[in-house]
Amino acid sequence: MTNSATPLTVGQALQRGSVLSASSDSPQLDCQLLLGRVLEQGHAWLITHTLDALSKDQENAFEALLHRRLQGEPIAYLLGTQGFWDMDLVVNTATLIPRPETELLVELLLSLPKDPCIRLLDLGTGTGAIAIAIQRERPHWAVYGLDRSAAALAVAQGNAKTWHPPGMAFIQANWLGPIRSASFDVIVANPPYIEPLDAHLAQLRYEPHQALVAADAGYADLHAIMQQATRCLMPGGHLLLEHGFDQQQQLERRLLAWGFDNIQLFDDLNHQPRAILALWPGTASREEKLP
Ligand code: GLN
Repeated sequence: MTNSATPLTVGQALQRGSVLSASSDSPQLDCQLLLGRVLEQGHAWLITHTLDALSKDQENAFEALLHRRLQGEPIAYLLGTQGFWDMDLVVNTATLIPRPETELLVELLLSLPKDPCIRLLDLGTGTGAIAIAIQRERPHWAVYGLDRSAAALAVAQGNAKTWHPPGMAFIQANWLGPIRSASFDVIVANPPYIEPLDAHLAQLRYEPHQALVAADAGYADLHAIMQQATRCLMPGGHLLLEHGFDQQQQLERRLLAWGFDNIQLFDDLNHQPRAILALWPGTASREEKLP
């Protein structure tokens, strides 16, 4: 923290990034983004106004953000936005921060046949990232976002208003409980899938626990969704799930046991197994054959 009576200049503020090296892989960029946020200016303005002085309020606001970043708070929560697909989405602590890996789900959904009247449901929509990206790319599809959290749905609705002004439908529910049978052609989900004792949860402590962690070694929600999807998918419909890097084989076995077909496995940008796509042929559920 600086306490000098002389005002801090933009140039000096930009140098303060070095204090972040302990908690960030990109300290200079974070510093620049946080300063830009306080001054409501972009990169080009900052580097051409290095001699401008910050007001005391601006300096205090900037130092407070630096301090929070130093504690490990994600840059997306400090800025209040995160880039996803072709959008800058509002995020807050009610929602998971959309990951670049999750853009894989959008790409896979766009590779499905482009039928004009697809009904698609995004389960655990959070910021609305997947649902809104798809609705922008496929304006004629009926895309719904569903979340259990009213606070997350408020964020998703705000994002939908910004990025798909004609409006989108959102549903507050606990997975597919209240959804009618055979009512969707595509169901997609990035559910909680981290196991409760996973060491890497410490780095995710600012994000909502209920959006990250699932019982049964991280499988509880994935299993519940695939079971419920057998009721809610139309015959010939698709289920697409994001999952943990070591969960793909077990999910494949489970999907086959529930009667899904044509299972396809996908890796993410970091070459980690990350998504599974399955066809629902519309046969009777094979609950009795489950392992
Ligand atoms: N992919 C996220 C992570 O490991 C977890 C997202 C989730 O649980 N759905 O950071």
